Amino acid sequence: MISLRHVSRLYPSPGGEVHALRDVSLEIAPHSFCAVTGPSGCGKSTLLNLLGGLDQPSSGQITVDGLPLHTADENALTAYRRERLGIIFQFFNLLPAMTAVENVELPLLLRGDRAKEARARAGEMLELVGLTPRADAFPHQMSGGEMQRAAVARALVHRPSLLLADEPTGNLDSANAARVLELFQKIASQRLATLIMVTHSPEAAAAAERQIPMMDGRLSS
Ligand code: ADP
Repeated sequence: MISLRHVSRLYPSPGGEVHALRDVSLEIAPHSFCAVTGPSGCGKSTLLNLLGGLDQPSSGQITVDGLPLHTADENALTAYRRERLGIIFQFFNLLPAMTAVENVELPLLLRGDRAKEARARAGEMLELVGLTPRADAFPHQMSGGEMQRAAVARALVHRPSLLLADEPTGNLDSANAARVLELFQKIASQRLATLIMVTHSPEAAAAAERQIPMMDGRLSS
């Protein structure tokens, strides 16, 4: 369960404080697939940064699976990001000199898993995302949709409880976007992770179970 209670984030600025988030209270059920929507500047990235443990609120409480992020110290936030979180980016962020399976297994090798086990787990994840036949392809040999599905496999490989996706379909054509969104629905329905996606795309938002529209730093629903 993710819970935000009266969360605000102020940024000091020369023209006065900027209220990036104002008194946001929200609960997100485990294994749900939510879309955060709203115009540029409404606070979506600020919310994602708070959920990702990259920033802390100016006031209010934010708790993820019992861990209070608003009071967590840097060590606890680092462990949270490493163990519980998977992140999916608009531009995939795959390493170009590594194949799909090497990209997917990398987080496990970096934390010290054995090579054989990391490769087996990466293979399972590639199967989940429908990329088994592309395991040995390099990013430049893959379509945008394939790269994003490999990035989803990488984000899930260490069994995080929360996946954050920042405009994950922003760089994909509609057919590839639809496949990535179907994959997100499958991840939620198989209860692999909670998925929170920031998007400008109405089609992408419509694929989520729940929409969280924002306006001027507040929830606008
Ligand atoms: P969105 O992701 O919806 O475009 P943001 O969360 O990036 O919105 O920004 C919300 C508001 O907070 C905007 O007015 C933005 O200019 C301001 N803001 C975001 N980050 C900073 C920062 N580091 N310093 C000052 N203002 C910021």
